[in-house]
Amino acid sequence: MELNTSIEFVPGIGPKKAATLIAEIGVRVVGDLLSYYPYRYIDRTKFYKIGECEGEQAFIQLRGRIASFDELGEGRSRRLVARFVDGSGIMELVWFKGIKYTAEKLRLNTDYIIFGKPSVFNQRLSIVHPEIEPYNQETLNRNSGLQPMYNTTERMKNCFLTSSAIRKVIYNLLSDKAFTIAETLPEWILQRYNLMSRNEAVHQIHNPKSLDLLNRAQFRLKFEELFYIQLSIIRHSKLRQIRYRGFVFNKIGTYFNTFYSEHLPFALTNAQKRVMREIRADMATGRQMNRLLQGDVGSGKTMMALLSALIAIDNGFQACIMAPTEILANQHYQSIANQLMPLNINVALYTGSVRSKRRQETLTGLADGTIQLVIGTHALIEETVIFKNLGLVIIDEQHRFGVAQRAKLWSKNICPPHILVMTATPIPRTLAMTVYGDLEVSVIDELPPGRKPIATYHYYDNKRGGLNQFLRKQLDAGRQVYVVYPLIKESEKLDLKNVEEGFMNIMEAFPDIHISMVHGKMKAADKDAAMQRFVSGYAKIMVATTVIEVGVNVPNATVMVIESAERFGLSQLHQLRGRVGRGADQSYCILMSKYELANDTRQRLQIMCDSTDGFVIAEADMQLRGPGDIDGVQQSGLPFNLRIANLATDAQLLNEARALAKEILEKDTTLESDDNKILVVELARLQKDNIDWSTIS
Ligand code: ADP
Ligand code: MG
Repeated sequence: MELNTSIEFVPGIGPKKAATLIAEIGVRVVGDLLSYYPYRYIDRTKFYKIGECEGEQAFIQLRGRIASFDELGEGRSRRLVARFVDGSGIMELVWFKGIKYTAEKLRLNTDYIIFGKPSVFNQRLSIVHPEIEPYNQETLNRNSGLQPMYNTTERMKNCFLTSSAIRKVIYNLLSDKAFTIAETLPEWILQRYNLMSRNEAVHQIHNPKSLDLLNRAQFRLKFEELFYIQLSIIRHSKLRQIRYRGFVFNKIGTYFNTFYSEHLPFALTNAQKRVMREIRADMATGRQMNRLLQGDVGSGKTMMALLSALIAIDNGFQACIMAPTEILANQHYQSIANQLMPLNINVALYTGSVRSKRRQETLTGLADGTIQLVIGTHALIEETVIFKNLGLVIIDEQHRFGVAQRAKLWSKNICPPHILVMTATPIPRTLAMTVYGDLEVSVIDELPPGRKPIATYHYYDNKRGGLNQFLRKQLDAGRQVYVVYPLIKESEKLDLKNVEEGFMNIMEAFPDIHISMVHGKMKAADKDAAMQRFVSGYAKIMVATTVIEVGVNVPNATVMVIESAERFGLSQLHQLRGRVGRGADQSYCILMSKYELANDTRQRLQIMCDSTDGFVIAEADMQLRGPGDIDGVQQSGLPFNLRIANLATDAQLLNEARALAKEILEKDTTLESDDNKILVVELARLQKDNIDWSTIS
């Protein structure tokens, strides 16, 4: 056996199981299987006595004999029941499946090891579908100690690839003394961090001899995993910096200075000032800027975009700002064109619905350089859009744009323009470092002064009467209200039913109030019209699915009611809540949910009530759901699956791994030194393994 031996030749696998392994978990060769790490361990260091069992409890193992067994019941309750004894008591072992097969194998007067989760049924102690194996030296060796559990899918189980089957296969593979696993880290790294060899780590991870050795094995494998990701990302970014020069914006000129000293509508917050300094410095270095600007909803990112654009224009370049929707592009255009009026800057709007004559003029203006700033949607990416000298691209609400779309903007000038990506979906630092590893990150972690935090409450559905009274008060005071229903991916029909029913209910409760409705099944024009009715203040209540756009700004709206809030993820709830609290009045977010909630759902809603800080919420979201489900990561796509490290819990390790990767590449960017040979080999192998780092920038 070699690491690259096809999985079907492993004893106990064969072609059929191999096909399932490939299809279900991407395990093709022996090396893949050995990197399929257990997700947890069960303590089988001890044998319990039946007399010690208390009924409901965790998985345990027992040693004893079968006193008798029978097939009982008919139809669906047909089952095999064995009476299991160990001198301290009696327990029933029950099988509903594989009855015939199991009955043929059971022997009386033979010592067995039983493993399973005891429960009490009809006042009798029993274990349903226990693992059962003869008690002998071989099974004892295999089953003692900390026993690994492997994730399996339904299809895997159907062809007998259960956790314990995988355990046996791996156990047999690793029992072959001649089989050793080559090292993937240079000796000096092993020594510096006191890491176990890869060979030993792989053995220990699948078959730990002690908790201590297991910890060391996990440490080593996590470190390695995070290190190679960072090495790859940072190397990629360094090589790109060598390949592409960036435009040098070394001038702060008249446009910027005039605007800053005479037309700035408010004093910048300290966070905004700091971010501007970072952006300015970055655009002056001669490297191409690739910067992610994170800032909570309402933190004032638009002004950062405007000021950055002025710097580009001062340096003789064009700038463009791209928004994810027409509504947003329009909003940006209105407010930015307005603010720039006194400066005589030529600003244009470019979206799909700009009429053809206007469109043509804009295209001409962009090509001959008379338009200095263009604001639009992804229509700007089209090949027909040609710039004379594009120097800066600003992308608002980044997570709606795919990576590929961003890449297209690069080709709009000979040199790639500076790129500033702005997002209101804060992502935890560890994720940012990994998913956007070669983007520099700026953070606006401070809201403009005078904002009242949004008061958030969680109500159960039975409090609807109270909710309506509260809404009435706000409406009477002249405020506007959003009511949002979840999108249910599996059933668009149900979605519609939800919103439409909600709409009817609200009409009944507020017969005298104009109500708008927006949902995904509407034509774009109708949607815009409905939105417009709400923006203009004619409609006081907006009933919507989550299609109500990120960034829509109606300062008079003070209440956000989120129906079936239990169906939303944390960051989505946070995004929605950000639609209110934009004016001077106290705003509210009401989370409506059913009464029976899973524990983590209840926790999620509680976090919303406790905090309005996007970073706190993003961090909590990652702890609760894991990194792969974080909004903004999902949309831009987690480019890899971590096999063992966990971005929610391994932040410290990630920092160390990143520092090491930086240190190595600082000294040896192209990894040519002898010390680093092994790194190049491993990087190449990982890259071949479906991980394409070049897409993450
Ligand atoms: P976002 O970061 O969500 O894009 P915006 O840029 O839309 O936030 O800003 C939200 C509101 O706050 C706008 O009305 C903007 O004019 C205002 N604003 C931004 N910065 C400041 C500031 N430093 N002081 C006061 N108001 C500000
Ligand atoms: Mg914004």
